[in-house]
Amino acid sequence: MNRRSLFTGALAGMAACAQDKKQNRFNQPTGYRDTPVLPYQRWRVHDIDRPKPAVVTPSTTAGGPPSDAVVLLDGKDLSRWTFRGKKDRPKLDWKLENGYMEVVPGAGDAVTRETFGDMQLHIEWSAPTEISGDSQWRANSGVLIMGMYEIQVLDSYNNPTYADGQAGAVYGQYPPLVNPIRKPGEWNVYDIIWEAPRFQGEDLARPAYVSVIFNGVVVQHRKEVIGRMAHRVVGNYQAHAPEMPLALQDHDVPVRYRNIWARRVSFS
Ligand code: MG
Repeated sequence: MNRRSLFTGALAGMAACAQDKKQNRFNQPTGYRDTPVLPYQRWRVHDIDRPKPAVVTPSTTAGGPPSDAVVLLDGKDLSRWTFRGKKDRPKLDWKLENGYMEVVPGAGDAVTRETFGDMQLHIEWSAPTEISGDSQWRANSGVLIMGMYEIQVLDSYNNPTYADGQAGAVYGQYPPLVNPIRKPGEWNVYDIIWEAPRFQGEDLARPAYVSVIFNGVVVQHRKEVIGRMAHRVVGNYQAHAPEMPLALQDHDVPVRYRNIWARRVSFS
């Protein structure tokens, strides 16, 4: 056999092999029952009986709600919110205009009618362009998860303040890893993953854990939450229901919010 026919033969062999591979791509097993069991799991490697993840349709727009999200604010109405009010002040709603809602100083915190435990939360906020005050008085607000665990909202753009009070902080506990704030008037985005605390009777069985992505930058990674939000003291836990309303803080500054949605997700 000369060189040329050797080469042609090799090519034919490769083509047959490719054809076999192509054919074998179909009628493949969709799982196995003869593989080892995974450590600390009840499932085998590639287990055919393992439940399949539910299908979720993602949004066609960046940051938009996926199909299984509860849309809390789409900019059209405030029907999913109530307002706590403040002592000795008239009952007011926050302002709704141009697709966002804005803190009305004195109206009290905005509180969802629905309750949430473990969740993924998307929320966008913007600080006023008119700068008034500094440190903790510059566009202070907050995402009060379960109404009491605060991810700080603050204009941290050229605004010196204590680290665990900056935007993206677990207020009074953990500063953000970095400060990716946008200028006042621009929209900031928080994506928050929350594992709610567990209680047995009045006792804490497991603390809460929180992760925060701030304008696409991770600033908190599964931090163990010490307790509820507190100022100048260490917050602690007090037993509460497994699901609680989400609140946004009225700290007497007209901060704006838009595009708020949450997904109920059980992490345990
Ligand atoms: Mg605050």
